[in-house]
Amino acid sequence: MDKRTFLQTAAVLIGGGAVVPFWGCTPRVPARTNWAGNLTYSTNQLYRPRTVEEVQEVVQRAARVRPLGSRHCFNTIADSQHAQLSLELLPRKVAFDEGTVSVPGSMRYGELVPFLNEQGVALHNLASLPHISVAGACATATHGSGVTNGNLATAVQGMEIVNASGELVSLSRETDDQRFAGAVVGLGSLGVVTRVTLNTEPSYDIRQYVYLDVPLDSVGQYFNEISTQAYSVSIFTDWQTTESTQIWIKERADQDMEPIEQELFGGQLADRKVHPVLALSAEACTEQMGAVAPWHALLPHFKMEFTPSSGEELQTEVFVARENAPAVVEVLRGMSDQLNPLLMISEVRSIKADDLWMSTAYGRDSVAFHFTWYQDWEALQALLPILEEALHPFDIRPHWGKNFGMEPAVLRSRYEKLNDFRALVNEFDPSGKFRNTFTQRYLFG
Ligand SMILES: Cc1cc2nc3c(=O)[nH]c(=O)nc-3n(C[C@H](O)[C@H](O)[C@H](O)COP(=O)(O)OP(=O)(O)OC[C@H]3O[C@@H](n4cnc5c(N)ncnc54)[C@H](O)[C@@H]3O)c2cc1C
Repeated sequence: MDKRTFLQTAAVLIGGGAVVPFWGCTPRVPARTNWAGNLTYSTNQLYRPRTVEEVQEVVQRAARVRPLGSRHCFNTIADSQHAQLSLELLPRKVAFDEGTVSVPGSMRYGELVPFLNEQGVALHNLASLPHISVAGACATATHGSGVTNGNLATAVQGMEIVNASGELVSLSRETDDQRFAGAVVGLGSLGVVTRVTLNTEPSYDIRQYVYLDVPLDSVGQYFNEISTQAYSVSIFTDWQTTESTQIWIKERADQDMEPIEQELFGGQLADRKVHPVLALSAEACTEQMGAVAPWHALLPHFKMEFTPSSGEELQTEVFVARENAPAVVEVLRGMSDQLNPLLMISEVRSIKADDLWMSTAYGRDSVAFHFTWYQDWEALQALLPILEEALHPFDIRPHWGKNFGMEPAVLRSRYEKLNDFRALVNEFDPSGKFRNTFTQRYLFG
């Protein structure tokens, strides 16, 4: 491939909600919310610069500002009392090099991945939805599944960040090993990530199929066998019924395709396309029933052109060391009566260990236990401490972008590189320009 292939498409308006002019803050701007609508941002000031130079200027002048991606976090990590800055109007320029691609931080995976595939290259994994921005996803250690797959941030090879003084700083894995490992899962705290360089590999196909009616006994008993069954495996369950328990298999056509069995660990091969929540229409879901398609079409569970998941929901996700997963399965089965009134569905996925300081998979092969809840924050606030207490023996790390109730001191104790991360943040942002209430509470105390 040509060493420098550039694509320039029109800037796509992805923000949703009202915005203010580049410099201004107008009191008439209606409240803006996150994707799920459970959070109204605390500021009506949103900067939307059109060039990197404008980003630098905004940051230099602002007293406080918080980078904003595609607004898919459920908690206040992206919120600000002062101002937010979105890169959605920056040019969509994609540049290829040998084995890597450099993309704007605000580009959504859904915009990027068909283009990558057209060029014959692929990413190693994707999240359940393609609607999220690359910088926002990597900043919170967003992940897909697969015991050999690191989270999406592990594909990052380089970044360009506008720091608090407005300088554009380049970091790369090759030349800035230590600082780089701290900066990638940056939690929006080092500055505005304007570009991200991602590892690519030759394009590959995925085959997807689903097993229904999986006995819950099998999930605990054969957890390792199930999760190593294919390139990417997800288990969906309500922790209570065989009927709601599904195994989604995403095989790589170039690695692990075997004849499809009718039965797997007691589950039956689905003869129809399904949604993880069986009662919901499967229209929004990616193709199943043994469909073979390029990686970007089948690694997510949901299609770009539809609303992912259920929409009106909350989410929680906790990460444990892989060896603890079967025990966690049993704990969750034991508390299914408590979970059930709020729980739409749970998903269990695997993530390979990495070296990124603030990653939820830092230093340990991990299993993520995810919960999609009905949108009842009051009830969830009461349930979260019970859930987290039950899982306390497993040293859980909560997903940075989802709902959790853990005390800041406990959360901080789960990250052995936290002090190094704080020092790195202070280097990029000595005055705390990018801090918000969330990072102040959970990272700095
Ligand atoms: C329906 C649904 C499904 C999901 N599925 C998954 C899943 O499969 N796996 C998973 O792990 N997570 C999942 N998530 C969570 C989601 O991936 C994360 O919350 C992710 O951070 C969202 O990215 P975003 O672009 O919307 O970021 P935002 O929510 O806008 O921001 C997130 C953080 O990134 C920072 N940030 C954003 N842009 C920049 C930038 N340019 N420079 C510096 N910092 C920046 C913000 O300051 C903030 O701290 C899901 C969420 C939803 C709503």
